[in-house]
Amino acid sequence: MRMYDIITKKKHGCELSREEIEAFVSGYTRGDIPDYQASALMMAICFQGMTKEETAALTMAMADSGERLDLSSFGTLTVDKHSTGGVGDKTTLIIAPIAASVGCKLAKMSGRGLGHTGGTVDKLESFPGYNSSLSPEDFFRQVSEVGISVIGQSGNFAPADKKLYALRDVTATVDSIPLITASIMSKKLAAGSHSIVLDVKYGSGSFMKTAEDAEALASGMVEIGKSCGRNIAALITNMDTPLGHAIGNSLEVCEAIEVLSGRGPSDLVSVCLELATTMIRLCLGKRREEARALAENAISTGEALETFKKWIRAQGGDESYVTAPEKFRRSSIIHKVFASYDGYIQHINAETCGIASVTLGAGRTKKEDEIDHAAGIILHAKPGQKIKRGDILAELHTESEEAAERAEAMLLSAITVADVAPETLPIIYKVVG
Ligand code: URA
Repeated sequence: MRMYDIITKKKHGCELSREEIEAFVSGYTRGDIPDYQASALMMAICFQGMTKEETAALTMAMADSGERLDLSSFGTLTVDKHSTGGVGDKTTLIIAPIAASVGCKLAKMSGRGLGHTGGTVDKLESFPGYNSSLSPEDFFRQVSEVGISVIGQSGNFAPADKKLYALRDVTATVDSIPLITASIMSKKLAAGSHSIVLDVKYGSGSFMKTAEDAEALASGMVEIGKSCGRNIAALITNMDTPLGHAIGNSLEVCEAIEVLSGRGPSDLVSVCLELATTMIRLCLGKRREEARALAENAISTGEALETFKKWIRAQGGDESYVTAPEKFRRSSIIHKVFASYDGYIQHINAETCGIASVTLGAGRTKKEDEIDHAAGIILHAKPGQKIKRGDILAELHTESEEAAERAEAMLLSAITVADVAPETLPIIYKVVG
């Protein structure tokens, strides 16, 4: 089977067979197929799309390109969550302890931030001592005893996705529904949880710019998950504007602690409660209302916050920061951005805020970059809010005056203001599955 023929077939819009897709995935993972041919195929898929059968075959071939985590010792209690990526998205830090405190098991591998989106592992490493590379024995013991362990992506899980994602990232081939479906679902299937909750984002900070595209992506992923025997559902949520007020690692951890303490911004609280409800519903087989009551109760009784502390302690982190978040190191420069006009905030572009946060030191532009856990943005204004000239729009936390100047210009370009209040869209568009 020649790679040249597979590329040609897809270029002409024909359907690839399961054998052709498997040959491509195994050949590329082994290193027998060069990047330039894989890039050509990725681009052809971007233009021509894939049928449901092709997408399912690509997902399975990628999931089988390496090991699969065996979580069968936890029965059907394991639940995983995946977000398609956003700005200010600290939901895992909140929903994992909620779900674990009512009996779900989260054995989770999470990514690091790259580009304008943050990563859960970077946020967790804001806690001094947090160990994100446990041995398999410690990982399993912690899941059994505490109900949660979150480590960095390790081992040889879905290696085809690791290679293909890196290639797509630099060849403008990320935003294709079949490719995103196969990328996410191959990792989730290899990660072994019985139940899976997907948070599919749409809007300026996500790959999917419209709710309709996000729904197409969500439905395809749910169908593949179900066909593989998983309990799976997807929330379609708005990421047109950053989630909550905090962007940047320890700033987001502090906001997550606020939500676990029964406070926090309403958009973040809504998304977290719906995600946690869906996890509990799928994992423990509860009706929606019952699952929602369990999630709310976990916060109001302080159980979820206690579970968060146990999790951080079990993984080597200093849990005293949970009760005293003021212990997190503060940036030496906290630069305030002021409004120069009166009006209503119409929109705050999430992607631009994410890039501004990276500029301040909170993220990476290359995999090897060091990050500053204290750096980032606190948004004081959100869409719909009425502002007056001289009001504080945001605080920029950084170690560099020059970075603060650049980030201020970006942030101001991200915010649009008008005389009338904007139409506000619901934060949760739909639940699929
Ligand atoms: N997240 C992933 O894991 N893969 C994609 O292709 C896009 C978002």
